[in-house]
Amino acid sequence: MLGRLSRFMRIMGYDTMYPNLEVADSEIIEMCRNESRILVSRDRQICLRYKNSIRINSDIIQDQIVQICSYEKPMKENLFTRCTVCNGVLIPGNCNCKEEFDPRKADSVSHCPDCGKCYWPGTHSESIVKFLSDLGIFNQ
Ligand SMILES: [Zn+2]
Repeated sequence: MLGRLSRFMRIMGYDTMYPNLEVADSEIIEMCRNESRILVSRDRQICLRYKNSIRINSDIIQDQIVQICSYEKPMKENLFTRCTVCNGVLIPGNCNCKEEFDPRKADSVSHCPDCGKCYWPGTHSESIVKFLSDLGIFNQ
């Protein structure tokens, strides 16, 4: 179960598919092969079956993020460019959501064209940036 890691990967801008539990290993491998994806898993068996895979060993989210980023450095400009729910690429503006947000920040609202979720900067995103920066994963 790497759901938390997959959300952080999306926050960092990595194109991240997260198959549900019912999807068979062979289907996951097939999808990775067809779409030239890197397979990220805790499962040794599935990683042995697919060459381009990263096996996650740690249960600690910080270690998991550092491990992923050691393969491909994240770039700060890619932060918050993907929907954490569905992996859609966010588009600036056009927020039709009913959630309350500070209208002074309306210029920096973005939305997911696939699921409609809206995003805007706030204390939550600031704390995520600090959390990730403290891991030393970004090129300074
Ligand atoms: Zn979405």
